[in-house]
Parts: sequence; C-alpha cells; structure tokens
Amino acid sequence: MSLVVDDLTVRYQGASGPAASGVSFSLAAGELVAIMGPSGAGKSALLRALALGQDYSGSEAAEIVGGAAFISGAPVRSAGKREHLFAQHEIAYLPQNAGAALPGGSSIGDFLSAPLIARDKRADRGAVGERAARSIDAVGLTLSTLSLFPSELSGGQRQRAAIARALMIGPRLLLADEPASGVDPSVRGVIGTLLRTGLEAGMAAVVVSHDLELLVALDARVIVLDAGAVVADGPLSELLAEG
Ligand code: ADP
Ligand code: ADP
Repeated sequence: MSLVVDDLTVRYQGASGPAASGVSFSLAAGELVAIMGPSGAGKSALLRALALGQDYSGSEAAEIVGGAAFISGAPVRSAGKREHLFAQHEIAYLPQNAGAALPGGSSIGDFLSAPLIARDKRADRGAVGERAARSIDAVGLTLSTLSLFPSELSGGQRQRAAIARALMIGPRLLLADEPASGVDPSVRGVIGTLLRTGLEAGMAAVVVSHDLELLVALDARVIVLDAGAVVADGPLSELLAEG
C-alpha cells in the first residue's frame, strides 16, 4: 500500500493548538520512513492521527485538522466505522510503551487474536490460533506464553507480545511508536528482523525511532520533526554527514 501525507496538520482531541503541521511525505509499498525529533515534537500525534483509532493504550486520540493523508489513494478521515474496519484489515499501530499498556484482563492469546476476530466474527478459531502461535514464535516467545496474562510477563516479554499482535493481521502499513524504548536490548533485534521481513513482503512502515544502529542498517529515510514542523527529510546517512 502507499501512504501520501500532504501538508498535514494534526491535533490532540481537546488541545487548543496543533501538535504538528505542514507535514508532507509519501511512502510506497516496501518503504520505511523513520520519524525522529525531540520530545514534544509531534511524532506520536502524527502516528496516532494516521492510526484511525487502532489504539488499546487508552491514549488521547489525535485527529487530522488540516491537509490530507491518503492510504492507497483513499483519504484518511477521522475514524468512523468504515475507517475502523479498514484499519483492522490493513494498518497495525504499535503505540508507545505498547507492552506496558497491554490490557490486564486478557490472556496473551486472546489479545493477539482480538484484531482477527474483530474483523471477522466467524473467523476459524483454529486458524486464528495457528496464526497466534506463529506470531508469538516470530517474536521469540514460547507457545505457553499464549495462556499467560500480562502481569505474568516481564517488560520485554510484554513488548514482544505487543509486537506479535501488530503482526497478526499481516499489516500493509505498520505505524510503530518507539517500539524498542524502555525494554531490554534483545527486543531491538526482533524489531529489526521483523521490519526487514515485512518490508521485503511489501509492507510500508512509519517508525518513530532514535535507534541509529537499526536505522543505518535499514538504510532508512528519516524525517526530523521539531516543534510540530518538519526540519529535515532525507536518508539517514546524509543527515548524519551534515551533522
Ligand atoms: P512526541 O511524540 O514527539 O514527543 P507528542 O505528539 O507526544 O510529541 O506531543 C506533541 C505536542 O502535543 C506537545 O506539545 C505535547 O505537549 C502535546 N500533547 C501531547 N499529548 C497531548 C494530549 N494528550 N493532549 C493535548 N496535547 C498533547
Ligand atoms: P472496497 O470496499 O471495494 O475496498 P472502498 O471504497 O471501501 O472500496 O475503499 C477503497 C480502498 O480504500 C480500500 O482498500 C479500502 O479499504 C480503503 N479505505 C476505505 N476507507 C479508507 C480510509 N478512511 N482511509 C484509508 N483507506 C480507506
């Protein structure tokens, strides 16, 4: 899928001013853009506005209040029912501190299965279970993790489970907000591998990350936000060379 962001302004619901404005970039299938920039720059707001309400962390929603974004040519509007359905099919959003925000009342298996069952109530439970098993294995957790609850997992294991859920739908667009922050370093390797595999399969990805090692390895294009505006856009190697 392609993503076109054109002069976008986004605002947190209830906030007086925009969190980011004048943001433009486009992304083809199989491409990655990394969003960097200081705290408060508007990185999370941008991702959240594109995520069409795909959030389980209870964070404040952000909405598009100016400009436009298009996913595979269709305009992204603030999330109504149709957009929600669309998002359940195509977009995976990994919120910041996703692991810490796992809903405590669901087993990991139920948490992983939820997006697939939400989009098709009659989904074959056996097939959903097999998919959950593959996803949990891909992030380096054991199958027995599926029957555990978040309170029984370490921080790194929870983050891996959150990543596994993002993989469950086989997303065509991944929106990941600092997927490796605040967790054990081994999670970074998982993220790198999964990003590479996904991109090769044609997934597009927008990832908020300051992990230079990972971004260099992925030869990432980087957009730097500061105070809600794009201040740099280009290959990381060029940005580093310019200092
Ligand atoms: P970043 O992800 O780059 O740290 P954010 O998107 O979290 O930036 O924040 C962008 C701006 O929006 C900041 O000025 C921040 O104070 C403000 N902000 C963050 N969260 C909210 C919220 N829930 N409601 C209103 N304003 C917010
Ligand atoms: P169809 O139902 O035949 O896929 P639609 O008109 O519903 O056609 O949508 C065309 C494409 O745009 C589909 O891939 C759909 O999932 C996607 N789409 C629909 N609504 C949105 C939206 N708000 N934002 C982004 N893409 C959307």
